[in-house]
Amino acid sequence: MSILAEFDGYKPTWCPGCGNWGISIALKSSLSQLGLSPSSVFVVFGIGCSGNMNDFLNAYSVHSLHGRSIPTAIGMKLANHKFTTLVVGGDGDLYGEGGNHFLHACRGNHDITVIVHDNKIYGLTTGQFSPTSPRGFKSKSSPYGSLEKPLNPLAVAISEGATFVAQGFAGNVPSLINIIKLAISHKGLSLVNVLQPCVSFNKVNTYEYYRTRVQYLPKTPYIKSREKALDFVFESYKREKYPVGVVFSTEKEASYTEMLFNGRKNELVKKPRYSDFSSLFSKFEM
Ligand code: SF4
Repeated sequence: MSILAEFDGYKPTWCPGCGNWGISIALKSSLSQLGLSPSSVFVVFGIGCSGNMNDFLNAYSVHSLHGRSIPTAIGMKLANHKFTTLVVGGDGDLYGEGGNHFLHACRGNHDITVIVHDNKIYGLTTGQFSPTSPRGFKSKSSPYGSLEKPLNPLAVAISEGATFVAQGFAGNVPSLINIIKLAISHKGLSLVNVLQPCVSFNKVNTYEYYRTRVQYLPKTPYIKSREKALDFVFESYKREKYPVGVVFSTEKEASYTEMLFNGRKNELVKKPRYSDFSSLFSKFEM
């Protein structure tokens, strides 16, 4: 495994043993192995322990508002197509506060990669249940157990139009590298939901818990039918198995960028730039 030091930022401050370490190593390795450089990568981070990677990864980046990382990344990709554009955030940020943006990004098949550190808890705020917590999960904000059913990110992404849907496990970095590389190389919206143990506040979904429940998928062929992929995901979860690998992928659907620009290279970054806005403002004067 090679990690170019050029993607290293400040030394991470995550708890020892946190799954974020594995995801961070996998992400840097993937970028490096794809031959990318920090100046060709744009990452929008959410708020949470995962979002603190903003300081630990060297690339163009924005540490966005809570739940707003996806629209920020979409805007960036539409304005400048050449950047490899990623979103990195947690399950609370991307499926909770930013859940609406996630749905619409899938519907639009926007050409971004969304990597979710799914630890099934709000870790930075020291342990409240999140959208992916199992029903009955006891936490600081649900002392008698949560009442809602957990959100199934894979099923939501498949049904709403994402064209690449995968799941990784922070405890298996080589497998995660392979998945993230495929996701970044995909045209259209790619989701990598990463099963990430939070060793400090989630005592249920631990490394041991996942090691007995992950189900590694063959590298190919991928399921290309949304209906079959949904059946597979629901069936797996019913058996308390977590598929790891590419669950669904299709290249047949155009990305938002391709549909909008239809092959024309007229993104915002190529438009004339104004150093003096007075002539522009004068057009709108009454
Ligand atoms: Fe990781 Fe949990 Fe610590 Fe946050 S609180 S750094 S998610 S172990």
